[in-house]
Amino acid sequence: MMDKSEKIFVAGHRGMVGSALVRRLKSEGFSNLLVRDRSKLDLKNAVTEFFAQEKPALVILAAAKVGGIKANNDFPVEFLLENSRIQNNVIQAAYENGARKLLFLGSSCIYPKFAPQPIPETALLSGPLEPTNEAYAIAKIAGIKLCQAYAREYGANFISVMPTNLYGPNDNFDLETSHVLAALLRKAHEAKARKDRKLIVWGSGKPRREFLLVDDLASACLLLLEKYDSSEIINVGCGEDISIRELAELICEVVGFDGDLAWDATKPDGTPRKLLDVSKLRALGWKPSIPLRDGIARTYEWFLANCAR
Ligand code: GDP
Repeated sequence: MMDKSEKIFVAGHRGMVGSALVRRLKSEGFSNLLVRDRSKLDLKNAVTEFFAQEKPALVILAAAKVGGIKANNDFPVEFLLENSRIQNNVIQAAYENGARKLLFLGSSCIYPKFAPQPIPETALLSGPLEPTNEAYAIAKIAGIKLCQAYAREYGANFISVMPTNLYGPNDNFDLETSHVLAALLRKAHEAKARKDRKLIVWGSGKPRREFLLVDDLASACLLLLEKYDSSEIINVGCGEDISIRELAELICEVVGFDGDLAWDATKPDGTPRKLLDVSKLRALGWKPSIPLRDGIARTYEWFLANCAR
């Protein structure tokens, strides 16, 4: 069992992943959580003083510049630079200030565009990446490699976790920069309110994605903090995927929009399929607890309470 009074720094606590981790850690009784708002601590710049003062025992690196297919495709410089800076700063400072463990959050987009499905961890660096999010993926791969280098060269217990496509409370619902699930929830909500007859979905509807509620990711991360001490990457997903068309239909049902779907073929499809092989995590005894429909309903409630006008 972990010592619940150990100091845990959650980098990125305002984001969807970081906030879910904080909720989960608190509900499990962890009493010494360290967080800092961006206005007080800019992880892209100097973090050494903060780490030297606070000396967290555990570091969870959930801070990142993230975005959907369009933002990633339009702003490769920012995705590559900002993510590299944040992770280099935090990983180095964690090591130099004696953190006993660090959990780095990667992404399923680190895998090659045409990786075998479901994607095993061993597919990393086995082929070319999907171009729409190559910059972000390269930054994340560099983060994994830095954690592995600290483990190999200095014996650090730095682990890297690869979540599938995530959604949930505190997701980004901006239509230009969000991921598909949040975007479609908002579009369905607004289409219903305006009594539109159609809802526009990007691409062909054929790509397949796997979706995990961020609360399930948080529970997996807690288990990995407790039980997983290898620098080999480990996937976190639910083990099932769905086409974008099916996702759009499911979201319309949950929201109660009964118009038609229309397809915007000028927008990219991205990678054809992204389903993680989660057998390694399953073998540790973890499985997801919230089915997709329930997770979407929960996220819609959060959206209604926090974003809808
Ligand atoms: P990806 O998993 O990195 O490709 O990122 P996204 O979550 O942004 O997109 C997943 C898939 O959903 C892609 O095939 C998109 O073209 C498709 N999609 C359909 N409608 C939308 C939308 O309104 N917003 C976004 N971001 N993606 C959409």
